[in-house]
Amino acid sequence: MQFRTSGKYDLVICDIDGCLSPESHAPINISGLSKIADHNRLAIQNRDRPVVTLCSGRPIGFVECLCRLIQNTLIPCIGENGVWLWRPADNSFQCDPAITDEHLEFVHEARKLLRSLFQASDVVQQPGKSASVALYHPDTAYLRSIVPTIAEEFQKRNWPIRVSMTWLYINCDLGHVNKGTAIARLLSETGIAAERTAGIGDTMGDRFIAECVSWFGCPANSEAEIQKAAAFVSPHEEVEGVLDILDHLVH
Ligand SMILES: [Mg+2]
Repeated sequence: MQFRTSGKYDLVICDIDGCLSPESHAPINISGLSKIADHNRLAIQNRDRPVVTLCSGRPIGFVECLCRLIQNTLIPCIGENGVWLWRPADNSFQCDPAITDEHLEFVHEARKLLRSLFQASDVVQQPGKSASVALYHPDTAYLRSIVPTIAEEFQKRNWPIRVSMTWLYINCDLGHVNKGTAIARLLSETGIAAERTAGIGDTMGDRFIAECVSWFGCPANSEAEIQKAAAFVSPHEEVEGVLDILDHLVH
């Protein structure tokens, strides 16, 4: 597949939580998403503006659903912080081929350990992840307080697992898999050049997006640290911010 537009960019790689939907369980702004869908319909029909695809830490099923909602029928989207690609063109899933049975065994062991350490404190492992673990607790300050312990426990055992925090979740991901490694796979299979890509994100996990694209923007609600990587910070929040960034990119 070779995708090319007449615009400056062929592709916008966009985070989901904090960008297209709230990271909390609040309802998704569907009128905002429907404008993204309109944008994508035109992009795919006319090839005159970049297609918006997704790159998220969420389970791939959630990403697939959002991808279909925003009418991206063409360009693969990324879930589970780089573990999975889902290809809307032929409904195929691909797990990063660099993930071996041994890596999956580490993740399995990590799940067991985290359950033994934190299940009594009501820390929940987010369902739907297959080669990583995400932890949630309604008390975010408590969740934040256990990050160093988790990192230490993994380090003690020499497990190749990266521990990081989003606004509301702890992500435990395989060290050699991230949003950037999945973007490299995506670009190689679509034939899109990195110079013709833009990215959007709101937390430090999105630095992997920022490092891969030629232009990076943030909505107003982004972490101060990731805003340093941005060429443009929209004054608007979440999906309104993304729409503003798209407008900025196209005009
Ligand atoms: Mg986010």
